[in-house]
Amino acid sequence: MPGKVTLVGAGPGDPGLLTCKGREALAAADAVVFDRLVSPAVLSLIPAAARRIDVGKSASNHPVPQDAINRILLEEAQAGRNVVRLKGGDPFVFGRGGEELEFLFQNGVEFEEIPGVTSAVAAAAYGGIPVTHRDYSSSLHIITGHARAGGELSLDFQAMVRLGGTLVFLMGVAAMPAITKGLLDAGMDAGTPAAIVENGTMAFQRRCSATLGTLCAGAEKMDIRSPAVLVVGGVCALAEKLCWFERLPLHGKRILVTRPRERSGTLAGKLRALGADVVEYPCIETVPIVPCPSLEDLKDYEWLAFTSAAGVEAFWDCLERMGKDARALGGVKLAAIGPGTSAALKACGLTPDLVPDIYDAAHLGSALAEVADGKILLLRAEEGSSALTDALAKAGRAFRDTAVYRTVCCNSLSPELRDALEAGRFDYVTFTSASTVKGFSAAVGADADFSKITGLCIGEQTAAQARHYGIPVQVAERAAIDALVEMAVKVR
Ligand code: SAH
Repeated sequence: MPGKVTLVGAGPGDPGLLTCKGREALAAADAVVFDRLVSPAVLSLIPAAARRIDVGKSASNHPVPQDAINRILLEEAQAGRNVVRLKGGDPFVFGRGGEELEFLFQNGVEFEEIPGVTSAVAAAAYGGIPVTHRDYSSSLHIITGHARAGGELSLDFQAMVRLGGTLVFLMGVAAMPAITKGLLDAGMDAGTPAAIVENGTMAFQRRCSATLGTLCAGAEKMDIRSPAVLVVGGVCALAEKLCWFERLPLHGKRILVTRPRERSGTLAGKLRALGADVVEYPCIETVPIVPCPSLEDLKDYEWLAFTSAAGVEAFWDCLERMGKDARALGGVKLAAIGPGTSAALKACGLTPDLVPDIYDAAHLGSALAEVADGKILLLRAEEGSSALTDALAKAGRAFRDTAVYRTVCCNSLSPELRDALEAGRFDYVTFTSASTVKGFSAAVGADADFSKITGLCIGEQTAAQARHYGIPVQVAERAAIDALVEMAVKVR
């Protein structure tokens, strides 16, 4: 059966601006053919099993020619694949989407189009510029600043000035001097508000606000580059009041989030929502240790104690593999070190009976020592902290320390990421356990210079591990993800 091509607008960069329908199409794709302007955050949504075809640049760094792209689409569809053709912004706004669909029509390939959020509107909006406003402008004009086949810009500036609406130029960075001159020569007031928004909707967005007369000098001073939208009109003056995105507390901060491969990106999501530019780096993997003989007779214990969500998941995994379920726990009481571990227990339908006031191993140990009479089973990582066992031993409590999982380093760091780290281009690296610190330093390499990064650590043990590798640290007030996020905002 022949396949089908779905042309999908990826939006301007923020992955939250991909439409629901676009996201569904992407999830169902067998092959994804994408352009240079599709953001890495959107590309990360491509299913692992799908073919990824980058037509944004070829080996020589030039874009793949349009007829070669057309041929790829045709071949992929004829091979019976469900093809998503992913384009930045909206595919029909200076995206050659129409040309590609005409070609597919001529070749009898079935197709569909899912519009996207265009940068012409969204980059302006994230820069605090509403493209229309009753007090300033009653029309919006989206214009290309790209001269076809290397020729001169042939734009009717007189008509643009007469219309009096908001002018948005795409692909206009190189032609900015010609555009501003054209408008001035056609009689537009040099004091007309104007702005340029670079990398709109992305955490590293920059905006240059000026007037028509001063825009070129301002953009040059800031070294504004493509992709950027150039906006001319009275609405640009509103940016000073409305630039909500740039006011987010972590706007402009670059954060590397190290985490176990299988953990969901809640920390990354929270940091992104506050405006940070987040790169996720899964540097360790947790591997359950099976079989686990200690789980044979759980009813012998008064308490089970967990020190991480990974420990809860490994325990549950073992139990299931042994053909057991929650009933094997009988009336055993459950202790969790903190909120993340509690949440993992709750996901298994279990509520912890004890969570210490301070979320660390020593406080879990002393809290347990206070309430326990019978035997305690500790279910945690290999090489767990001795703070827990010391506290129990000191109080004379009977316990068994069982390793239910181990952490292994799983991912080497890309050269670009390593360079960026060493050059100090990341403001922070987050660590949520001592093992993420170990995985990270193993990946970066023992010879690396860590002095330019700041490690945001969830607790004292994690911080101690980071200091051991020479990483400057800041420690969260409580060992919880929310406290780590609060600290990221505070240290700034
Ligand atoms: N189809 C796209 C436009 C493609 S033309 C859309 O609807 O957005 C490429 C131009 O789009 C770039 O030169 C730049 O002017 C603009 N552009 C795309 N993404 C952008 C972004 N994130 N921020 C600012 N401008 C962007």
